[in-house]
Amino acid sequence: MEADTGNILIDELARKKAQLLSYGLIEVPKDILSNLSVERPKSGPSSGSNLVGFEFKGRRLKLVVSRKRERFRLQRIGNEYVILDRDEVFLKVKPLDLSTHAPGQVFISLDNRCIFNCLFCRRESIVIGEEKLLGFVRRHLEKGISSLSITSGVFPSVEGHVERIERFVKGIRKDYDDISIGVEVVVGSREDIERLRSAGVDEMKINLQFPTKKLFDAICGYMEYEKILGLLEDAVAGFGKGKVTSNIIFGVGERDEDIICSLERLADMGVIPNLRMIRLDKGIKRAMERRLGYSLGKQSPERILKLALHQKRILEKRGLTTREAKTMCLACGCCDLVPFWDI
Ligand code: SF4
Ligand code: SF4
Repeated sequence: MEADTGNILIDELARKKAQLLSYGLIEVPKDILSNLSVERPKSGPSSGSNLVGFEFKGRRLKLVVSRKRERFRLQRIGNEYVILDRDEVFLKVKPLDLSTHAPGQVFISLDNRCIFNCLFCRRESIVIGEEKLLGFVRRHLEKGISSLSITSGVFPSVEGHVERIERFVKGIRKDYDDISIGVEVVVGSREDIERLRSAGVDEMKINLQFPTKKLFDAICGYMEYEKILGLLEDAVAGFGKGKVTSNIIFGVGERDEDIICSLERLADMGVIPNLRMIRLDKGIKRAMERRLGYSLGKQSPERILKLALHQKRILEKRGLTTREAKTMCLACGCCDLVPFWDI
């Protein structure tokens, strides 16, 4: 079923996904939870929470499990799962396996430590040895998964971080030449990008993080904003158009025009912007509000939809698509509305 909004047809399922993303929580009775694949992130704004994931008609979604009474509740009817909205059937869903973080991929973080201090990011000091991580990845690749995504905190330096990712990619690539490898990385130079490409990386994400320099400097500030744009240009030169992505986070008091402008700027360069809604737990929200000097609220389903539609139009106009992404968030689609997948 489709509804007409302005001149644009919006899929009803995209609208439902936007409502669930905006709300963010789902009540899951204990007996149902024990049968689901539950993720317990060790870093990021959802650390300390339990996450569950669902698939519905080719779309995916992750939500934080709540023990309290919530607007959305998961119910099992026979062998089927439904999400109820205030006791009314809202959506039939299938639970996802979250054992590798992103369904259909192995998505790992090499290091949870970071020398930088982006306000929206919570890090841990838990260190998992490289051999153990290699073993984990290999086990899943042997089972038939063909996409590997790698991220990492920046530790002990940008150079050290790039070196470590390079070593890991080489370690996997020598035995698996037919899988897709994507890295989400902080690079310092064109040489860093080239090293990772030569090691066997297929897709690269270098985050601009925010739509304006002012927001980036206030919240992250680990590099010159313009330098990141230059590095993205270098990455497109090395990997090709559509193989480079960059997070643009929204929900921190930016204007729609700022978002549109940054999406256009990235797409003009051949970068696929990855529009991401900010997730705020109480501590992160407080710290951000203190730094920014204003209050932050939830993002409405209408804004989530509107921005995703702008993103789609911007990509279409430049002949770019998210459908060819094999790794990371654009191929996963659990946390945001992804143009061409969801809308
Ligand atoms: S650079 Fe990345 S890992 Fe480090 S604090 Fe910022 S977002 Fe977190
Ligand atoms: S969309 Fe990105 S952050 Fe969200 S679960 Fe998928 S890979 Fe992880």
